[in-house]
Amino acid sequence: MTLEEFRAAAYAVVDWLAAYRESVEERPVLSRVEPGEISALLPAAAPEEGEPFADLMADLDRVVMPGTTHWQSPNWFAYFPANSSPPSILAEMVSAGLGLQGMLWSTSPVVTELESRVLDWLVDLMGLPQAWKSAGPGGGVIQMSASDATHAALVTARAAKSGAGRAEDMAVYVSEEAHSSIEKGCNIAGVGHCRMIEVDEERSMSVAALEAAVKGDLARGLLPVAVVSTVGTTGTTAVDPLTEISRTARRRGMWHHVDAAYAGTAMICEEFRDFQPSLEMVDSYTFNPHKWMMVSFDCNVLWVADRAPLLEVMSILPPYLRDEASESGAVIDYRDWHVPLGRRFRALKLWWVIRWYGAAGLRSMVREHHRLARRLADRVGRDDRLKLFAPVPFGLVCFTHRDGNEATRRLARDLNATGKAAITASSIAGEDFIRVAVGQAETEERHVDALWDLIDSLA
Ligand code: PLP
Repeated sequence: MTLEEFRAAAYAVVDWLAAYRESVEERPVLSRVEPGEISALLPAAAPEEGEPFADLMADLDRVVMPGTTHWQSPNWFAYFPANSSPPSILAEMVSAGLGLQGMLWSTSPVVTELESRVLDWLVDLMGLPQAWKSAGPGGGVIQMSASDATHAALVTARAAKSGAGRAEDMAVYVSEEAHSSIEKGCNIAGVGHCRMIEVDEERSMSVAALEAAVKGDLARGLLPVAVVSTVGTTGTTAVDPLTEISRTARRRGMWHHVDAAYAGTAMICEEFRDFQPSLEMVDSYTFNPHKWMMVSFDCNVLWVADRAPLLEVMSILPPYLRDEASESGAVIDYRDWHVPLGRRFRALKLWWVIRWYGAAGLRSMVREHHRLARRLADRVGRDDRLKLFAPVPFGLVCFTHRDGNEATRRLARDLNATGKAAITASSIAGEDFIRVAVGQAETEERHVDALWDLIDSLA
């Protein structure tokens, strides 16, 4: 591809993307293809000769669109949001265009220094402890996903808290409402016991049950190494009691990791910060700007209060990676902060999103989504066919049909079948419920009202 061809193709792609985003609201939100339907549109073998770019573009409509589930639709209320936004898309383009590798400071200093600075901005924007800034003992790093971050935290906890113990004797504690990535992280880290701690009536981890589990494991000769709290569980956005859990963690010599994958974004608004008190007692914290902060997937942030044990676990130095800047001790080499060596320039999209919208723009998005979620919850709460299933601390509304599981499932199926909105059905302790996550960047009051009209007509 010559640069002239590249220029023309790039304009065509941007035009196509702008038209897509203009029309996405009108498209059926969920893809309706049957398994295998997309494969059937594709040749079995790669082309021998190159094809014109116009043919590649045409297949966006012929092949890609039918198999697309429209996460960027303002009618997207399923799972949690995975927002992108125009400045983030453009930054992705620049990042790919530059094609940098940021494994060492010296392999592209801007990748490292911009990342540290933007994550320091976030410490202030989210009211996190100052010690987590890059100039302090801790620091932040961008990873692919919250699952990766939690895995890194657990591996670090295992090394930092186990003494000479064997991994199979180690125990990690997590609420039974925590995301499955914690159990997966334990499995990958080789931790022998991942204990699911029962929750109270608000679906927050019971500290008494945590204490009892730790005590029981100590009596059995096991080694409690970490506890993972959640701020905003995946099921219902419940919040674990961080202060009490931190106290238990300290008393028992355990690492305390906080998973705020979804709800972390809300912390840019001061009024949500009571949900995560006492963070200065926490060892690590993760959240996903790629969920609710208008930064395209993938972009996760992991902060550690003390970077030394993380680096101790993740550093390995073959001769071909030695260099003067690293040895001077004056720079950060982010390759030592996670499993992958190579790393892309993900900080650019975070930088552009924060600069384009400003802290005020991000705050008003969060507050508006929260307001819209409360508006919907209020309507659900006043309807005698429906029942709220959980409080609405952030942007997620959970409810059931009063006629029971069958009716709840039917309502969820019928809502999704309209193509006018996407919601998720879930279940806790045998009770089925519908999750409506208000958080897509373009979602306005009229979309939430239209969803309510659908719920009203189908309930
Ligand atoms: N933790 C929580 C609370 C989540 O809700 C999710 C995903 O929804 C995750 C972790 C996993 O996130 P990721 O896909 O970034 O690994």
